[in-house]
Amino acid sequence: MSLERAAVLALPKVDLHCHLDGAVRPGTLLEIAQAAGIPLPADTVEELLPHVRVSPDCRTLRDFLLTFETFYPVLNAPGSLERAGYELLEDAAADGVVHLEARFCPALQATDGHSAEDVLREALAGLASGGRDHGVSWGAILCLYRSEPPEVNAALTELALAYADRGVVGVDLAGPEDMPGEPFAEDFRRLREAGLPVTIHAGEACGPESIVEAMDGLVATRIGHAVALREDAALADRVRQAGLALECCLTSNLQTGAVSGLDAHPFDALHRAGHLVTLNTDDPAVSGITLTDEYLLAAATWGYDLEQLRAFALAALEAAFLDEAGRAALRARIEAGTV
Ligand SMILES: [Zn+2]
Repeated sequence: MSLERAAVLALPKVDLHCHLDGAVRPGTLLEIAQAAGIPLPADTVEELLPHVRVSPDCRTLRDFLLTFETFYPVLNAPGSLERAGYELLEDAAADGVVHLEARFCPALQATDGHSAEDVLREALAGLASGGRDHGVSWGAILCLYRSEPPEVNAALTELALAYADRGVVGVDLAGPEDMPGEPFAEDFRRLREAGLPVTIHAGEACGPESIVEAMDGLVATRIGHAVALREDAALADRVRQAGLALECCLTSNLQTGAVSGLDAHPFDALHRAGHLVTLNTDDPAVSGITLTDEYLLAAATWGYDLEQLRAFALAALEAAFLDEAGRAALRARIEAGTV
């Protein structure tokens, strides 16, 4: 029996893997670009959409990343991530999301006269007011990038530590997975020791070895994507025994070609094997999806009922970078079923 969209929309949900820069409304991109005099390939939202949102049948990472190239210059406009952060939580509330962890790399939007710290402060301000106005619990995950120079990542590490009590709840490593994570091992150990938990993009574009590196070398407690676990049963077992949470992003994995189809996606097999799996959006504006869409997609693909979806939301809550008081309050909301 297929689930009613309204029931899944009303289910309180948790998004652990959502890129702020991949979640900006197309209309907002257009308005910021026009106000700042930044060129975009279209003057209306309708005409802009094909440039900033992939088509549902997108199946290559190249086509997926092409959209970012189009809109990324717009996000350099001061204040853009403040508005994006606010609207992200407004959209989350409308989608029944009660806790969202927004990740971004403020160094990517820094310009002369507008530092990474300025960008971070603006994003945190937008998230704080959006969360307050719309009743959504949130945390910021600061992304280091494999492709950024060491001094940039060292500065990001310091920023994460400085803002750990002001909204930054964890750190991530993103960027091309075929670039080694080893140069970051010391940074992540420092961050972990300072109380900031670590999630790492791994096993999306590269194989099981990237997951080994994330778990052993980079002290991750959560793995972003981890699709490559389907290739290595022994590693999957080790990841399960270590209690690592998996941030799965079904539509994104389809659109970037990480899996050839949902029948090839390991989500259900990992769930049945006892892994802590979670459903997330990744880049909702680029993919043209909501978290409700992802829950419905999982239910349509593997036959989950509403109570199983609620269990996935509760699993995500257990893996959230939250203090125990915040977790307990949200657990009651999810169990009660009230958004
Ligand atoms: Zn991601």
